[in-house]
Amino acid sequence: MRELFHVKQTRAQYDVVVIGGGHAGCEAALASHRKGARTALLTHRFDRLGEMSCNPAVGGLGKGHLVREVDALDGMIGRAADYAGIQFRLLNRRKGPAVRGPRVQCDRQRYRTFVQDTFKRCGGLDVVEGEAVDLQGGFLDFTIVTKEGSVISTACIVVATGTFLGGVMHIGEEKKAGGRHGDSASNRLSARFREFALSMGRLKTGTPPRLDGHTINWDSVEPQPGDESPTFMSFATKTVACRQISCGIVRTNLQTHDVVREFLPRSPLVTGEIEGTGPRYCPSIEDKVQRFADRESHQVFLEPEGLDDNTVYPNGISTSLPVEAQEKFTRTIPGLEAAEIVRPGYAIEYDYVEPTELTRELELKAQRGLFLAGQINGTTGYEEAAAQGVVAGANAAAAALNDDPLILDRTSSYIGVMVDDLVTRGVTEPYRMFTSRAEYRLALRADNADQRLTPIGMERGVVSDARKEAFERKMESLSGARQRLARTNVADIAEIERLKDRESQMSGDLLTALTALPNDSDSILADISAQLGVSLNDLRQIHHDMIYEPYIERQREEAKSLKKDYALEFPAEFQFSSVNGVSNEIKEKLVRHRPSSIGEAARIEGITPAALVVLRAAVRSRASAERRVGKNGR
Ligand code: FAD
Repeated sequence: MRELFHVKQTRAQYDVVVIGGGHAGCEAALASHRKGARTALLTHRFDRLGEMSCNPAVGGLGKGHLVREVDALDGMIGRAADYAGIQFRLLNRRKGPAVRGPRVQCDRQRYRTFVQDTFKRCGGLDVVEGEAVDLQGGFLDFTIVTKEGSVISTACIVVATGTFLGGVMHIGEEKKAGGRHGDSASNRLSARFREFALSMGRLKTGTPPRLDGHTINWDSVEPQPGDESPTFMSFATKTVACRQISCGIVRTNLQTHDVVREFLPRSPLVTGEIEGTGPRYCPSIEDKVQRFADRESHQVFLEPEGLDDNTVYPNGISTSLPVEAQEKFTRTIPGLEAAEIVRPGYAIEYDYVEPTELTRELELKAQRGLFLAGQINGTTGYEEAAAQGVVAGANAAAAALNDDPLILDRTSSYIGVMVDDLVTRGVTEPYRMFTSRAEYRLALRADNADQRLTPIGMERGVVSDARKEAFERKMESLSGARQRLARTNVADIAEIERLKDRESQMSGDLLTALTALPNDSDSILADISAQLGVSLNDLRQIHHDMIYEPYIERQREEAKSLKKDYALEFPAEFQFSSVNGVSNEIKEKLVRHRPSSIGEAARIEGITPAALVVLRAAVRSRASAERRVGKNGR
């Protein structure tokens, strides 16, 4: 980075100023405030705090883990989502707890209300309305200049400007500058960043048209109800806060795809107007029709945006086609024949900073005291943004207060996995979290995020007293329950009918015997809970901990042995395209990069630990086949 212009040497007004009140910025400001730093949040508009730019939903596979981890560090996103939750679903319920993902459909307005009320109640945390256009000075002595003419001095800065830097929105041939619908782009700050000589690029994302719920034929829509027993995002939530609703499922068909194809020549993706790479895992309908040309149908989830709001978010048809195309293809979908679009879908291109420019504290290597968080680092999603916000906010405060940083590694958390992926591998497309990115996923479960991270958060000063006390009470209760189970012999409670059936596999103390119960043993746990007077929640937690313990140990051993094999080399003519057991996406990356060794493959962005195990097996079996041929040949 070019030397920033030095301004003055007086004590700064703030320890930390966070620029941008999106999901990253809000968490960053709150984390910095919890750490006791004099903090301000500088953002365009207070009434846009808590805005969900795209889908009004939080969580999902991998993302739900991040939310729980942010919550374990006393962040806000989980509590806001629970407060606004109009439908709770635990994804992957039939699979083991390690890969289950809690997801909440939110009422947009209630989400905003929760976030804005949180800031209103946060005495000592200033929210300044304005647009940052220039940054000057350096560590402990920065100055932020706003478009409105204010000059704010601060020791450290967190920049969390989302999709706003150089944002350009596209609908068909129309294109205009903007940070997202209804907001202008941050072009002056983008220009200032370009002067810093950082490695930067352009990425793209998109959103579907919003529909008027009154014009949907709900009778022909397959209902998608939420879970009977909701799984909350926050460890602090005990009950649902508002009325629950059903979502709906409809499907595209060949006619829909024909309309999309007909208008493709007018798509900014095809005409070359959009150069940035989009999120592979959240493809637009244009991408789907081209990439999966043989598919006759794609599911579309109709998600109401609120209890007092008729707007419906059709999840699955994000698009940047012209408005007439959006109307035409939407109406080919059974149930949406008369659907009115209240706001067209669009794509947005924006600047991002290559995250390899950052340290694990999310601080720019080239500029001490300047931290970046959220979409500006090449990620996509509220959850990824919020998680980086906590890290950057805590570390900006730590730098200003000369305190220890919050550094999470891959063994501790999904946050650690994400930060490590970003700063060591960089991004080539918008980065989103998946459980497959974590090599220690049996240990990094959503259900134990507080046990893994709250103690670290307490040590680093980002956890409030109230959260600390609640956590300590929970741990005491868990420990009491474990002791009670360890002291109880299975034979003593064998009158529990359902347990009797398993008597042959379960003997000895009840704690150890829990390992013989499968994942879905809630009714048996309920019986045990009633008989022993141990809380059902504690029992569920202990059950998960017990069944995973041996696997976690094995996983640790496997990770160690994989590391030892990093030197293993691929034969010169190794066919990456024909390795069985890895996804096409991973094959494409391997073919493109042609790593020479397992270690080199591990450093390619998006290559998962599971894929490395498959590759190692492939190299070994190739080597032993060659040895056999060699022997036979002799
Ligand atoms: P944002 O939530 O974008 O917040 C940025 C904040 O910074 C805003 O409050 C803005 O006012 C403020 N700001 C910007 N510049 C300045 C400045 N110079 N001075 C002061 N304040 C400033 N995510 C997905 O996971 N999947 C998707 O499919 C998806 N699609 C999307 C489609 C669209 C059209 C958009 C806009 C976003 C989409 N997202 C999607 C992304 C999701 O909204 C973001 O990942 C998330 O909001 C990023 O959070 P953030 O905090 O980094 O930034």
